[in-house]
Amino acid sequence: MDECAVCGRRGVSLLWARHKERGGIWICAECWKKLYEDNMLVYGSGESGCSC
Ligand SMILES: [Zn+2]
Repeated sequence: MDECAVCGRRGVSLLWARHKERGGIWICAECWKKLYEDNMLVYGSGESGCSC
């Protein structure tokens, strides 16, 4: 997989992110930032438990 799962862009460095609805995906930094700001990424990877 060498393309962003969100915008489909190729030839960019991809970041692993855990999307709240789509699960683990590879996305470019731009989309990562966007999803991050939209609060669509799951935080605290490696830890289980609620984030309330
Ligand atoms: Zn993207």
